[in-house]
Amino acid sequence: MVRLMKRTSNLPRPARWLWAMPNLALICFLAVGVALLLFIRNNERQRQHDELVEAVLWQDRALRAELTARQKQLEGMAHDLVRGDISEGAFYGRAADIMTSSPEVLAIAYTNEFGDAVWSYPAQSMAPLQMVPAVIEPLQRSARIGIASSTPPFDFPGAGQAVALSFPAVQGNRTLGAFVAIVSLKGLLRNYVPWWIAKRFQLGIVNLDGDTLAARPEQPLPDAGPLSYDVALDPPGYGLRLRARIFLTGWPLWQHALYWVLAGLSALMLWSLWVLKRHMRERLTAERAMLREMNMRQALEDSLVSGVFATDREGRTLHVNPAFCRMVGFEAEELLGGTPPFPYWAPETTNQCAQIFAAILRGECPMNGFSLRYQRKSGERFDVRLYSSPLIDGEGRHTGWVASMTDVTELKREREALKASHERFVAVLNGLDAAVAVTDRRNGELLLSNRAFREAFRLTAPDGPLCALPLRHADPGGEWFDPVLGRWYQHHRRETLWVDQSRVWLDIATDVSERKQAADRERQQTEKLQQTARLIAMGEIASSLAHELNQPLAAISSYSTACRNLVASRQLRPEELDGALDKISEQARRAGAIIRGIREFVQKREPKRSVCRVGDLLDTVLSLLAAPLNRHFVRLVEIRVADDTELFADRVMLEQVLFNLCKNAIEAMVEGPQERCELTVETRTRGDWLDMIVADRGPGIASDDVEKLFRPFYTTKAEGMGMGLNICRTIVEHHQGRLAVEAREGGGSRFVVSLPLATQPIFKETEHHAV
Ligand code: ADP
Repeated sequence: MVRLMKRTSNLPRPARWLWAMPNLALICFLAVGVALLLFIRNNERQRQHDELVEAVLWQDRALRAELTARQKQLEGMAHDLVRGDISEGAFYGRAADIMTSSPEVLAIAYTNEFGDAVWSYPAQSMAPLQMVPAVIEPLQRSARIGIASSTPPFDFPGAGQAVALSFPAVQGNRTLGAFVAIVSLKGLLRNYVPWWIAKRFQLGIVNLDGDTLAARPEQPLPDAGPLSYDVALDPPGYGLRLRARIFLTGWPLWQHALYWVLAGLSALMLWSLWVLKRHMRERLTAERAMLREMNMRQALEDSLVSGVFATDREGRTLHVNPAFCRMVGFEAEELLGGTPPFPYWAPETTNQCAQIFAAILRGECPMNGFSLRYQRKSGERFDVRLYSSPLIDGEGRHTGWVASMTDVTELKREREALKASHERFVAVLNGLDAAVAVTDRRNGELLLSNRAFREAFRLTAPDGPLCALPLRHADPGGEWFDPVLGRWYQHHRRETLWVDQSRVWLDIATDVSERKQAADRERQQTEKLQQTARLIAMGEIASSLAHELNQPLAAISSYSTACRNLVASRQLRPEELDGALDKISEQARRAGAIIRGIREFVQKREPKRSVCRVGDLLDTVLSLLAAPLNRHFVRLVEIRVADDTELFADRVMLEQVLFNLCKNAIEAMVEGPQERCELTVETRTRGDWLDMIVADRGPGIASDDVEKLFRPFYTTKAEGMGMGLNICRTIVEHHQGRLAVEAREGGGSRFVVSLPLATQPIFKETEHHAV
């Protein structure tokens, strides 16, 4: 199934500064907010400070006015005293009035010039002050020198810190005394600080050392700072200062709220910005991934070699890929929106194309797809294989059909060529007489066999497991007899690579039964001929045999005569008789050996090897040649330098070889002049080889005829058989030797028998056929 997706354009990468802008805006917003808050706060502080200063100054004026008013009242009493208008009783009345109207006044007294109270209200109120020189001295001074004065603050019992104001009563140049009023500092503050100041500020009177003497509310006042302000309080002077401090040092509530709202908003902004950024980043990543995916799909589609086309459910062409356009030779624009019959349907296959297209629209598609023939725009036909499947859009709706198409023209052509080649191969293979089989090396499964193989081994199927069993135990490279079929096979086996690169056995078995029978027949024939040749040779040596036998028989006869003479002479010595009898039996054995040798020579026999002396071998042959040599007046030259050399050979066979060569040499010289009739027999060793040479002075052998000599039945003689040299060579080669012929210097020919000097068996007798 295929899903259609829309392509997207390349996504622009957002600039870095664009990402930084919201952060920057937020930072600016925060900075402005904080600056604004600080500005408001400073303004507020400044305003408060101004109010503080204003309040302190106002309060200072108010207190001074009150103190001045008390002094005025004392002054009034002093004037009345001078005029004589005041008596002690009037003094008490006026003092009581003043203290009632001014509660901060603790006591009022009239003192003499020594500071002793003349009148005091309440009574004895001045007594404690007598003990305090710092207070009493200014009072005495005021009364003595007649000036208004005040005292430093002192502790008045039961009323805290207080100061005393004095005003002298002066008559002319004489001072009558002084009126004193003791004023409570706490009382001053309690009575003359208005509510609107007391609500917002703490007010107090401090001395030079900064100690709080009186305060409202009663708390020590801190040293001067940005939130406090003080001024000198005079009277009474003495370094006393009026100090005020602002109560509300923190921000007002609304400012706090504003601050927190601002902070909260900033945090919210920051969080929403972070969330937004993360979301954007995720979205951007997703979009990029999608774009990559789309580009990848597009690249895949563009590089596809299979043609792809999609139709809607009614068969209208929706999409064709570049490979499809290349195949049919039309542009995509020519095909999109098209309906059947399509321009790439060949006229002769229109019906088939229409049927297949209808099947596609019905959703039918066989496993192997559809095979049909289209035409290119140029008119050229091409074969395609087509597979279809439903087209499902992004929402999972079935919107049409999509088909992929492969150009199989070349493939088809190749397949046909391959098929033809395979058929030719099978025809050739089946035409072979040899049985051919290919088997799996691992399990012996027959992978391929030809007709000859199946016929030979009665196989019905061309292959199958373990069908090559007949050849499994055959000796590769040798001949093999099938006991079931009674046939001989020449079997070759080779390991080779099979089409799937596995290792297989290639067995080729050629039926050699016919050839083998022919060879057997030929061998039997040759054996018969050889036997005949021996019989003929026997006739030739019959006279030699007679001559040979003559000697031992004559010797036996003469020894037996001698024995008889010895017996008749009656002077018989047993040792003489023993010696003669030994000689007789020795000669008899010799005669017997000659006869046995002839018999063996004639008989057909198996080769029989033993250690034999070269000298003995030559003796036997030359004794057999005595008769022909004599008959034809041939001289014998013997050069025997290797008589003691030993061979491991079949002595009789080698005697036959030498006899044949010598006989041929004699016969070659028969026609020649008498003086040249000379047979040379020579033996010599050459390294590990023994050479036995038979040379004559006959006509020699033309170089063209050299090879012919050894062929069977080649003869130039009227009664010859032409088998002699052939048998000689067979025997010599049977002993791993060589038989060669060459022209002899001075005329004639030279036959050389070369044999290896071995005294041990060098091969198995039974492996070879008898000659
Ligand atoms: P055969 O003696 O029955 O002819 P051989 O095989 O012994 O058969 O010899 C084959 C032929 O080789 C002879 O017919 C003869 O022509 C030639 N031949 C053999 N030995 C000699 C030789 N020593 N000199 C010349 N020719 C020879």
